[in-house]
Amino acid sequence: MQVYRLPALTDNYIFLLLDRERQEAAVVDPGAAEPVLHKLNELGATLIAIFNTHHHSDHVGANRQLIQRFPHLTIYGGAEDRGRIPRQQVFLQDGDRVSFSNREGRVFFVPGHTRGHIAYYFPPVTDDEPGELFCGDTLFTGGCGRLFEGTPAQMLNSLAKLRSLPDTTRIWCAHEYTLSNLKFAVTIDRDNVALQQRLREVEASRQRGEATIPSILEIEKQTNPFLRWDCESLQAAVNSRDSVQTFARIRSRKDMAKLF
Ligand code: ZN
Ligand code: FE
Repeated sequence: MQVYRLPALTDNYIFLLLDRERQEAAVVDPGAAEPVLHKLNELGATLIAIFNTHHHSDHVGANRQLIQRFPHLTIYGGAEDRGRIPRQQVFLQDGDRVSFSNREGRVFFVPGHTRGHIAYYFPPVTDDEPGELFCGDTLFTGGCGRLFEGTPAQMLNSLAKLRSLPDTTRIWCAHEYTLSNLKFAVTIDRDNVALQQRLREVEASRQRGEATIPSILEIEKQTNPFLRWDCESLQAAVNSRDSVQTFARIRSRKDMAKLF
């Protein structure tokens, strides 16, 4: 399964999964149709599935247009998003499976950003390849989604599920927010050398106009403050000894700075 990253709207990414043998494709969170149709045309592939992570329009905006063009495709989303995802056909719950090509994906229910958010995890088929996590606006590279419809405890619980995946897992999140996220992260996690190093690398990649996604879970665990609620130095930085409170305080500082 090949994954293509398609820039869309202002700072979104749509991910296109390709089964080369069958010339079939699936997309994750198509917020816009044009980049998807363009890539399908270039690849000569048919779209057979849409995997939505949540109902926000920058993630589902092209559902209607794409199913009109490919009437046989299947639209997947979370069960809690029933009525909010255009033309949704499959209503997924935690632990459900989805299949595409030779891969079977596992569904995680990850409320917090929204109350219906899900993530899709495709474990590796062979030992020498990574698993692929499509996490929408839950886990971002260097950050996490804002809590529009959930509590800090819910979001922490959701992120904990994702954090327990293998370290080599590739993180395909839906926005290019990495640089802004890391600039905020260094203001909280001040002595984290790995974080400072990563910020320099990301600054350089963005200057060259490169995407910073996918990231790798191991790097997130070392540098993303929203996966480090149980790290003593971070707890000390926000004057807490409690994981949920630490997480909540970091999130609210970021909200107050009007950052993603
Ligand atoms: Zn969203
Ligand atoms: Fe979004």
